[in-house]
Amino acid sequence: MERLQKVIAHAGVASRRKAEQLIVEGKVKVNGKVVKELGIKVGENDRVEVEGIPLEREEPVYLLLYKPSGVISAVKDDKDRKVVTDFIPYIKQRIYPVGRLDYDTSGILLLTNDGEFANALMHPRYEVEKTYVAKVKGVPSRESIKILERGVVLEDGKTAPAKVKVISFDKRKQTTILEITIHEGRNRQVRRMLEAIEHPVLKLKREQYAFLTLSGLSTGDSRELSPHEVKQLR
Ligand code: URA
Repeated sequence: MERLQKVIAHAGVASRRKAEQLIVEGKVKVNGKVVKELGIKVGENDRVEVEGIPLEREEPVYLLLYKPSGVISAVKDDKDRKVVTDFIPYIKQRIYPVGRLDYDTSGILLLTNDGEFANALMHPRYEVEKTYVAKVKGVPSRESIKILERGVVLEDGKTAPAKVKVISFDKRKQTTILEITIHEGRNRQVRRMLEAIEHPVLKLKREQYAFLTLSGLSTGDSRELSPHEVKQLR
């Protein structure tokens, strides 16, 4: 059983808030009867109508995409660039990304049609750890790494401490590979943190999201999360 406004929102008819408004305004029927209370729960077999139109229930779907670089974390783009849903044409439901990865960032991106699940994961309080592998310009000093580990002052405030591992460096090319783990999700956060220590990112990949990895996937591949994985993320 799920709350009526959630069922309406899931079906893609309206946002959760709009669904609540429709209910209060008496525009929603359950099994032929107008329902105006927000608390009511409905099951699989209840017939829901919104403004006289029967609701087509959408199955919730949870996907993990290995996003290639050069793709927008959106479902459509007005400049006709590649978008993440181009990689999952087999899903009929209307899905959208949980947060975003920059156009030039590759790696794990979750997609779902479950708004509540997506919002919870994106909430800073939820603190999902995300691990990125960054190739940066130059070779950061021990002190620069410490700055990342303590938290970096950015224009939108100090970041939480990051976990950082130096994987390798290329002396000749003067580049370094770092692994950096953060739990916030500010816009271009990793790039900005590394820019702040004057080691700009040349390449960025999200390798881990909570306990999820890219294991078994090639760039552009996707898979459904198992019910167990979804439960662990909630
Ligand atoms: N941090 C960034 O800078 N870019 C991303 O795509 C994700 C995290």
